[in-house]
Amino acid sequence: MEHIITTQSLSFEYHAEEQTRHLVLKDINLQFEKGQFIGIIGHNGSGKSTLAKHFNALLLPTKGKVFVKGMDTKDTNRLWDIRQTAGLVFQNPDNQIVAAIIEEDVAFGPENLGIPPDEIRERVEYALKAVGMWEYKDYPPHMLSGGQKQRVAIAGIIAMKPECIILDEPTAMLDPIGRREVISTIKKLNKEERITVILITHFMEEVVDADRVIVMDDGKIVLDGTPKEVFKEIELLKKIGLSVPQVTELAYQLKREGFDVPLDILTV
Ligand code: ADP
Repeated sequence: MEHIITTQSLSFEYHAEEQTRHLVLKDINLQFEKGQFIGIIGHNGSGKSTLAKHFNALLLPTKGKVFVKGMDTKDTNRLWDIRQTAGLVFQNPDNQIVAAIIEEDVAFGPENLGIPPDEIRERVEYALKAVGMWEYKDYPPHMLSGGQKQRVAIAGIIAMKPECIILDEPTAMLDPIGRREVISTIKKLNKEERITVILITHFMEEVVDADRVIVMDDGKIVLDGTPKEVFKEIELLKKIGLSVPQVTELAYQLKREGFDVPLDILTV
């Protein structure tokens, strides 16, 4: 089995030179399988963004190693291969759209890679169609809703033909409609385009049908399993400040009270 991202005893501190040591990531060992949809959840400050930035060499480990498709993120010669393999989408779409017209924005990444114009046009069309934004190709970004802008930001990454896309709280700044649009786009990219997805979120509902859910607390992995395995740890999740989806909580409550609740309801 080929692993798209591997971390080995990854620890990280922002100011390693200071006397007071504050590890933000503590001995993280993970392997992500190709093609999976992985959710990473945890309360604010648990280390999710810091971990995400290690997945495409935006940050480098203080201790330990990170490999992207076998490439060591500390190998500066492979930086562009790494960034092309694993693309990162951030929270605020306004900070990620740079051009005056949508089509130009999506072309920006491939242009920087020196890809020939014909292929750039093909990639832009493919990427905008993959996120359902092709008909907006001539629009200026300010005409779009938050969810549409975030889909364009995702198209900008897709145009780089990544194998893996890491999304760091991509719905945090969106209204419920925008959130739904973005999440269904991400799921489609995973199922239909077979892109590995790592979704960082504090909305548990967004990871109920992930292949794997990883829960972080204080720089450590505290739970790692299928949504069903993770969500049944209601007490632990509450203790670290996460609220499970209401449907899950209700199902467990009924089960505790002796009702015959089908377990499948827990992943709905
Ligand atoms: P999350 O994404 O789960 O909210 P972060 O990875 O952003 O968590 O933050 C983890 C910890 O690292 C927090 O204590 C935060 O204050 C600290 N931190 C984040 N970014 C920086 C930075 N640039 N410099 C110093 N400390 C930081």
